[in-house]
Order: sequence, then structure tokens, then C-alpha cells
Amino acid sequence: MTSKIKVGILGATGTVGQRFVQLLENHPWFEVTALAASERSVGKNYGEVVNWKLNTSIPDRIRNMTVLDAEPGFEATIVFSGLDAKVAGEIEEKFAENGYAVISNSKNHRMDDDVPILLPEINADHLGLIEIQRARRGYEHGFIVTNSNCSTMTLCLALAPIEREFGIENVVVTTLQAVSGAGYPGVPSLDIVGNVIPFIGEEEEKIERETRKILGHLQNGKIELHPMKVSATTTRVPVVDGHTESVNIKLMKEASLEEVKRALQNYTSLPQKLQLPSAPQRPVILKEELDRPQPRFDVNLENGMATIVGRVRPCTIMDYKFVILGHNTIRGAAGAAILNAELLKAKGFF
Ligand code: NAP
Repeated sequence: MTSKIKVGILGATGTVGQRFVQLLENHPWFEVTALAASERSVGKNYGEVVNWKLNTSIPDRIRNMTVLDAEPGFEATIVFSGLDAKVAGEIEEKFAENGYAVISNSKNHRMDDDVPILLPEINADHLGLIEIQRARRGYEHGFIVTNSNCSTMTLCLALAPIEREFGIENVVVTTLQAVSGAGYPGVPSLDIVGNVIPFIGEEEEKIERETRKILGHLQNGKIELHPMKVSATTTRVPVVDGHTESVNIKLMKEASLEEVKRALQNYTSLPQKLQLPSAPQRPVILKEELDRPQPRFDVNLENGMATIVGRVRPCTIMDYKFVILGHNTIRGAAGAAILNAELLKAKGFF
């Protein structure tokens, strides 16, 4: 019998935490052995305190597990963090100090010089920062790896194939983000029903800085940010799951429309080569229908792990423009973190 790697979930009762629970059920490599959340939930059964919002049932084994304090001490090698950003920073550090591999969804450590924003299709080499992080922070076995903000993740997967072949100089992006991106209960219904809110706190800055770090290069122990300019406008729309984004790009090298489409359609990378269990077969799906992608129909393609690109066309000001869609709590959060853990395992970290 092969034994699975034990994993804990911090913030297990939240929107992202619930996705972790759902996606880790029957995972071939990982087994959930600990669930942690706030004082409100500690000491109670998970099924009793969670306000479960997914369309599958809470796994039986998980339903009866007792929710623990978000404190090191429980049995796990990896901890996935879906903690509220107000508390994530310190708690995650404590776990890393105590020897856990922390894989975080929160913003707190993303821009730290010695912490990668890992996106396995794009920057597996950024894992080189872990050695530097351990040396600098005195972590013996533990470390912190993050994934990006949800809209950034969707964007980077669409930019990477084009960047790889033609280079990208400038990006202008406008997002239409789902309400599940704000956690639960999130945006009050009276604010969002029949409405669009043209502001999401700190989201534009996150997209503008994280995109350049993800697409940047690790050189001499440091990530050199990608020189591209990124300008973002972010809005909240009455959609449950799935962030849509309108993107305009200026290329470094001339490319025809067909060449750009081919780059998107043929994109495949390391997670596909390694056949990681959560890797989408096609990380980027090109849609040719004029009215796609749409969240209602397309968000779950490739189990929510792909970026869906449509309406690729010339732009009169930049070079090309298109519309993209990604699942914010799967590829934009829990699914991305699980893929990160799979890459770490494949690279021999556990
Ligand atoms: P959420 O639904 O509000 O859940 C927050 C979780 O943090 C809950 O489990 C909560 O536990 C726990 N928590 C709060 N205070 C705590 C404390 N003092 N000690 C221990 N646990 C505490 O938020 P979310 O949407 O899942 O987001 C979680 C993180 O992921 C955030 O940093 C967010 O920015 C990031 N993120 C979210 C998305 C998304 O699409 N939602 C995407 C990417 C990244 P209780 O239930 O016990 O209060």
C-alpha cells in the first residue's frame, strides 16, 4: 500500500477552503489530515460550522473531523492556506518556521523577494527561491510558496504562450469578476444584484505587480520583474463563479492573427509533460465562437483548471485584443495551490 502525503487546510471553512476540501477528496497523492479555522469554529465538527456552498456533498470523512486552531502542531507535511489575509501573514510564517510546506492563496507573502508566486506552466524555475528563503529566514525544512491573485492567474496563462513566442510590451486589462471572489458572505446582494461595481480594493495593483513577477526571470537569486507595462481596471459583476477579462496587448515582435491563435491553441508546458494529477490537458482553450467564453457555459472546462480565450482579433490601438475566462476558486485559488503542491512533489520537495 502506498501512503499519501498528509495535508492540512488553514481557513478550511471559507470559500477557498471548501474548494480545497472538495478537490482533495480522492486525490491520488494527498490526504487531508487536519482542518483549521478561526476561534469561531475551533473544537467543533467541520460539518457543523461550515456554511457549505458547493454543489457536491461534504465528504463523509471530513464532515466529522474536528476543526483545529490554526497553530503548528498538527500532523501534516503540507499546509494549504485559504486564510483571511488579515491573519494569513503571521500564521503562515509560523507554520513554515515549524517545518511545514506552506502553499498560500493569500496576498501577504506574494511580493516578498524570497517567495515565489508559482504558476507551474510558466515559472517552475522560481522554486530556486526556496533555498534562498530557507537560508535567509532560518527555515530548516519548511517554506512558503504562493499562488497569485485569481484574475492574475487567468491573465498570465493567456499571456504566457504569446509572450513565449513574440514577447509582450504592454497589457491593458479590464476584469468582470464573480462574487465568489470576495469570499462568503462577500458583497451584499443589494449592492450586486442587477449592478456592476467598478472597484475592487487593491485588485488592480495586485494584477499589475504580480503579472510582472510571475512572468519575470530568476537571475542571481532574485526575480527580475518582466519589463512589460500592465494597466488594470477591475469590476465586480453578478456572476457566481468565473472571472471574465477583456485584454489588449502590444507585442515585441510582429505576429499574424493566425500565429497568435496558434500559439494559444498549441500551448502546453511542464505540468502537462509531467502529467501532474490536477494539470489540465490544455491549459489554454481557444474558442472560435463569436459569443464565447461565457462563465455559465465555459468556466468548468478542464475541471476549472484552464484559461479560456475567445474573440481574438486585431486592435486598432495595440496589436491584438481578446476575452478570457478562468475559474476564480479553482485555477484562481485552491486548484492552483494543489497543482503547485503536485509540482513540488514531482521536483522531490517531499
Ligand atoms: P473567506 O470565505 O472569508 O474564508 C476565510 C477563512 O479564514 C475562513 O475559514 C475563516 O474561518 C478563516 N479565518 C478568519 N480569521 C481567522 C483567524 N483569526 N484564525 C484562523 N482562521 C481564520 O475567504 P476566501 O474567499 O476563502 O479567501 C481566503 C484567502 O484566499 C484570502 O486571502 C483571499 O484573498 C484569497 N483568495 C480568494 C479567492 C476567491 O476566489 N475567493 C481567490 C484567490 C485568493 P471561520 O469560518 O472560522 O471564520
